[in-house]
Amino acid sequence: MTRGKSTIPSGVSNGEGLLRLNFLYQAAIFMSNNGSSDASDLGRFYLRTMRDVSQKLVIRMDPKVKRSVCKMCDSLLTGKEHVRIKKDKRARSKLLITKCGQCSTTKSKSLHRPAQ
Ligand SMILES: [Zn+2]
Repeated sequence: MTRGKSTIPSGVSNGEGLLRLNFLYQAAIFMSNNGSSDASDLGRFYLRTMRDVSQKLVIRMDPKVKRSVCKMCDSLLTGKEHVRIKKDKRARSKLLITKCGQCSTTKSKSLHRPAQ
């Protein structure tokens, strides 16, 4: 980074907040992939801080990022062990079911896209 110049484009509001959210998310991914329980706890702390910062600065997180965080315990929900696909017979569509490894909270999302 050059001195005196910011990497934030001029048209972006809350650029510093976006940079902070990005740093916290990447740090949480790094800590969650470390394997030890202390690092996992630190990763959850980073994700909780990321959620608090986004609420305080009124920044909308990307839906993919938002879906990758457990709402109950702030754990990272990435990897194949957390996700399975189930066919919903009533709605005739497929559901993406995500289960948290820490608190066993499940959430489902329909994979059906309505016709436009
Ligand atoms: Zn959880």
